[in-house]
Amino acid sequence: MKSTNNGPDSEIEIGTACKNKSCQVRYEGTSSNETECLYHPGVPVFHEGLKYWSCCQRKTTEFDKFLEQQGCETGKHNWVAVKETVQRNNCRMDWHQTGSNVTISVFAKCADPTKTIVKVNQVSVDIFIVYEDDKIYSQWLELNGIIDIGKSCVKLLGSKVEIILKKAEPVSWGKLQYESQAGDHSQSS
Ligand SMILES: [Zn+2]
Ligand SMILES: [Zn+2]
Repeated sequence: MKSTNNGPDSEIEIGTACKNKSCQVRYEGTSSNETECLYHPGVPVFHEGLKYWSCCQRKTTEFDKFLEQQGCETGKHNWVAVKETVQRNNCRMDWHQTGSNVTISVFAKCADPTKTIVKVNQVSVDIFIVYEDDKIYSQWLELNGIIDIGKSCVKLLGSKVEIILKKAEPVSWGKLQYESQAGDHSQSS
């Protein structure tokens, strides 16, 4: 496979967000390059209820407070589009269950908590993980059972993302994903 790095990268679209962690600045023209970038060079750490960046270790229990923590390092903004280097679904996914929980593990290292989104409803999970700076894992799963959203949670660990789903009923799931029998989605209402 051949790849060239000589793409038209000289033009940065207005509104492009800086890719450095926790920097909120968007590109508004060349003057934006003269403003300082405040970012975290480290990785997010979530440990026993505490959330912090490995670089500055200002520990907090609240996710919002963690997201608000200003960068501890100054440098130049990084506008380079993520798109070019995106690799999708490139990491292993696994699951296991106990009597009350189903745990999905996505082996994405150093997931970015400011960009990673896991949406659930009672019967499905929509996973979008940004990890190792610029890689993306996205997956939508229709579940084989019903879950209790309020008691389900997501853990960003250094080596993987764990999605812990609380079963609405303590029954064993034969498999993780629901597969429709007939192939059509007939729903009686
Ligand atoms: Zn930091
Ligand atoms: Zn920046």
